[in-house]
Amino acid sequence: MVIMADERIDPWGNAEIRDYAHIFKEFGLSAFPGEWKAQLKHRLFERGIIIAHRDFQKVMQRISSKKPFINITGIASSGYLHLGHKADIDLFVFFKGCKAKNYFAISDIDAYVSREKIPDMETAKKFAADNLAHALALGLEPKDVYVQSQKEPRYYSFAFELGKKITQATFEAIYGHVDLGKISAGLLQYADILHPQLKEYSGKMPSITGIGLDQDPHARLTRDIAQRLSYDIEVPSFIYFRHQSGLKEGTKMSSSDPDTAIFLNDSAEAAAKKISSAFTGGRNTEAEQRQLGGNPDVCKVHEILLFHYPDSKEVKRIFDECRKGKWLCRECKQFTSEFIADFLKKHQALVKKKMPIAQKIVYGK
Ligand code: SF4
Repeated sequence: MVIMADERIDPWGNAEIRDYAHIFKEFGLSAFPGEWKAQLKHRLFERGIIIAHRDFQKVMQRISSKKPFINITGIASSGYLHLGHKADIDLFVFFKGCKAKNYFAISDIDAYVSREKIPDMETAKKFAADNLAHALALGLEPKDVYVQSQKEPRYYSFAFELGKKITQATFEAIYGHVDLGKISAGLLQYADILHPQLKEYSGKMPSITGIGLDQDPHARLTRDIAQRLSYDIEVPSFIYFRHQSGLKEGTKMSSSDPDTAIFLNDSAEAAAKKISSAFTGGRNTEAEQRQLGGNPDVCKVHEILLFHYPDSKEVKRIFDECRKGKWLCRECKQFTSEFIADFLKKHQALVKKKMPIAQKIVYGK
């Protein structure tokens, strides 16, 4: 695999990606076809939130013929979860319902070795327990989950083996500056995606991982490694999320900036405050908005509904009515705040119930 220096997307950065066409062309991604969207019947596909893929046809064939495939994703436990993470988990739960073999990594080692803000493993584990309780509340079961720091030797020996297939020059070409922590985290991430196909686990079969476009360097390198391994495995498939951007203009939802995201631990009041000051596609005055309509395409409030509101017809109705000037941003923010408040209340009650199970899994007691 040849990677040019200007092909870098920073997987650890906070920049928002808007130029999808450029990225599709540069990286050779395929747009997600409409016929699959219709077949999969899930809001993330129907609403164009999943925008691209690499080799998803292999997984699609498995889903159509009701045959198993590997469903693998994970969360680096480096902070609290926000609505962007919820979309990732919702996708995992969807595939779980399609006869998948499920592997959900709680990446505590990855978080500790690659993030400066995680000073010790105890902090990574604290976030891991919190993140896992949320994931369980969103539909995961304990049997779907593994914690990196508790994985068996086979997983770790495999991760080290992968190091032989990557040069430092390749790492630097993809990620720019790298250090030993980021290299270690990279090896664990490649092992997370590939190890389920070893004979000690589920064995060879197509696998799917949903990622953001900024994670594509990981995907390309993982696919490249898979083709050069001596093990007989399928090259993994990936599907790509359109970004759920940050609440402020020009930002990505980030765990390190509380004002860019609604966190799953936020109170209803805190979430309402963030929604009320979010960037919208509204006009300068109410009269102008009534006359010219708003622009939901750039609106962060509409994006919340697009990603998370369960009723697609209602989301479409709000979109159309915004454009015709039938909604004012004040009313729309109120509607969205009520929806989010209701979700957070029910979700947080479930998290409370799931927390003892999550702690037992993360601390192995
Ligand atoms: Fe956004 Fe709603 Fe205002 Fe339209 S009415 S710009 S969707 S907040």
